[in-house]
Parts: sequence; C-alpha cells; structure tokens
Amino acid sequence: MSDSDSQEVNPASLLTRNREWVSQRNQQQHPKILWIGCSDSRVAESIVTMSPPGVIFTQRNIANQFMVGDMNANAVLEYAVARNSENAKPKGLGIDHVVIVGHSGCGGVQAAMDEAEKTRDIDCFKGHAETSNLARWIGPLVELVKQHPEAEGDLDQMVDINVEEQMKNVRAALEKIGGFAKDVQVHGWVYDLESGLLRDLDQPEPEPRTVWE
Ligand SMILES: [Zn+2]
Repeated sequence: MSDSDSQEVNPASLLTRNREWVSQRNQQQHPKILWIGCSDSRVAESIVTMSPPGVIFTQRNIANQFMVGDMNANAVLEYAVARNSENAKPKGLGIDHVVIVGHSGCGGVQAAMDEAEKTRDIDCFKGHAETSNLARWIGPLVELVKQHPEAEGDLDQMVDINVEEQMKNVRAALEKIGGFAKDVQVHGWVYDLESGLLRDLDQPEPEPRTVWE
C-alpha cells in the first residue's frame, strides 16, 4: 500500500492525490491491447482491469461484434495493428493482441435469442430495411443463434459462441490486412457481471503462428 493509499481520505488528501497523479500520468498512448467489447456500461475496460489511460485501445458496440462490413471496427483494427516504419510518419499503434470481450447477461445476445425464437422457422432474418438500426445490428447474431440449436435457451453458452464467432471475424480481417497483422494474436474473454472476473476462453489458434513472448 502506498503512502497515499494509507492516508486518511479528506478534501486535502484528495487534492494531494490529484497532484501525485498529474505528475505520474501518461499523456501518450502506447497501448498493447485492442479491446473489442460490449457497450454495456458495467463492462468498462479500464476499470475492470485497473488500467490507466493510454493502455487499452478500444472498440465497443452492442454485443461486442466485429462485422466483416463494419467500416468503423475495421478502421480501428487497421490503425491498431499497423506498424510504424523508420523515417515515416506514424501509421498505427503496432498492437500485437486483440481481445474480444463478451459478458454474462448480455442484453444484445439475449435480444438476438428472443428474435431467433420468434423467427425460428424463417430461413433468413427478414425486414432489415424496414426495422430499426438496432434490429439490423443484431441481425447477424440472430442468424448465429439459429446456427447453434444446441445453445437454445442458454444465454451463457451463446455469449461464448458469439465471442468465438467474432474472434473468427477478426482473424479473417487480420488475414486480409496481411503483413504484420497476420501474426497478431486474437483472444476471447468473457466478463462475469456477478463475480467481476474475466475468463479466458483459451481458444486454440487455428494454425501454428509466430511465438510471442
Ligand atoms: Zn452486452
């Protein structure tokens, strides 16, 4: 425990801590991780990992999806993994690890399961053009749910399956980017709202890759 932690908390000590923080804070960003997580307000990446500013590059959306055609997510990924080259302007952050983070009780995954139940006898999620952006956003998830009848009614299992699916999508995007990006490691985690713990799905890499330290 540092001296500042053991100090009595009062207005003066908080002002002192603020000045200590200012002297130590990192105004540059040198993140080593790209976190692709859910928009859920309870799964704030820097808070649940106790990470200071500048450490985690982030993309969050409903149900932590990485869609092949999502320009926003693809731009984030490209910038995250691009390497700087000598005598050239910085091109990217040179990140080596991408983490897809799902979470228990995900409302986005639950909504997709509910929609899949209603439309189970329909081959394809209909009405994208007529419905809301939210409905269109979860459309691919509805199809994913339908592809996994073994997970019917099991939100926890479907959350895991969704993370695995997004890992595949990220790996495909990295292959497309090529070069250094092909060696970036993709991880799958699930955050448990009740315990506050992150679980590593420990997915094996699909093929031998560069060994990282
Ligand atoms: Zn969620």
